[in-house]
Formats: sequence, structure tokens, C-alpha cells
Amino acid sequence: MRSDIPVMISAERIQQRVDELGHEIASVYQGRPITIVGVLTGCLVFLADLIRRLDFPLKIALVQASSYRGAATTPGQLHVQDELLPDLNGRHILLLDDILDSGQTLHYMVEHLRKNGAATVRVAVLLRKLGRQKVALEPDFRGFDIPDEFVVGYGLDYNDEYRNLPFIGMLPPDSR
Ligand code: 5GP
Ligand code: MG
Repeated sequence: MRSDIPVMISAERIQQRVDELGHEIASVYQGRPITIVGVLTGCLVFLADLIRRLDFPLKIALVQASSYRGAATTPGQLHVQDELLPDLNGRHILLLDDILDSGQTLHYMVEHLRKNGAATVRVAVLLRKLGRQKVALEPDFRGFDIPDEFVVGYGLDYNDEYRNLPFIGMLPPDSR
């Protein structure tokens, strides 16, 4: 399964970059407690790796958002389920997602969290696809800028598979 997926970003480079992001995030919050709001399901691997680099008080909350099916990357109808969110009033929020594509998911979530009384909302993404943003949204923290390719691995799926790859790979059109 792994051997036929071309590597875009190796597992080692991801780990090194997540280390750096951990330092960047720690230096911005200066020990203030935060709530990391992860966007399911793609955030899971990034979230798990990142939080073990953060040595200050933090809580984790999760929302489910989905906006595409299969490899069609034209944004579909955005579905957000936020029943799992605790009271975020007055909290410093770090919104975490796997990839910034059109921007519609994160833009919606930032507004939603602000409306719900968050003290501050910042955004961290592992990947940002260049040339795809339709909604102006500048992530506060980002791992890598990537070209406009459909990627899988390290949490990102195709039809819910490939999330367990330790690297970011490009899904060849014939596997779709
Ligand atoms: P946005 O709202 O920014 O258009 O969509 C972001 C969501 O679309 C991501 O959280 C992710 O679930 C999905 N997505 C966008 N591009 C890709 C991609 O190249 N690969 C995968 N697996 N998911 C993607
Ligand atoms: Mg997603």
C-alpha cells in the first residue's frame, strides 16, 4: 500500500517541522493556558504529535467538519458538528487542522469560536495548498506550503483510507 504512493514530505521532515511549530506556539502563548480545537478527522495525527511538544497547560476539544467526498477538491457543502465542544468562553483557542485548502472550513470555525466567546482564536495547519484559497485566511502557524496536488497520509485520507501513512504522499490518479 505504501510503496505505490510517491512521497511529497517524508516522515522525518514532518517530525522536524512539528518540533519547530511546537517552539513557535510555545513562544507565542508564553505559558498561558490554551484550548486546542482540532478539526476531525484529519487533525488527529498532527494533534497527537504536536501536543506532546507543548509543555504548558492545555485542553483539547474536537469538532467534526467535512466538505468534500473522495478526491473531489471543489469545496462541497460544509458540515460542522460541534456537539463535542465544551464551553470556550474566555479561552485562548488554537484551531488545528490538517490542511488549508479553500479556507472555508477554518474561516467558518474562527467566526463560530469568536461568537462563542473565545478570548483569542489562532489557527495552525500542517499544510497550506498554494493558489487554492477562496476565503482570506492567514494561518498563524503552518507547517508546509504545498502545490495543488491531492495529498494523503499523516491523518489525511482518501475515502477514509491512508490516514496511517507516516508521510505526506501524492495519491496517483489511478488509485482514486
Ligand atoms: P477547505 O475548507 O479549506 O476547502 O477544506 C479543508 C478540508 O478539505 C481539509 O480539512 C481536508 O479535510 C480536505 N482537503 C483539502 N485538500 C485535501 C487534500 O489534498 N487531501 C485530503 N486528503 N483532504 C483535503
Ligand atoms: Mg478536514
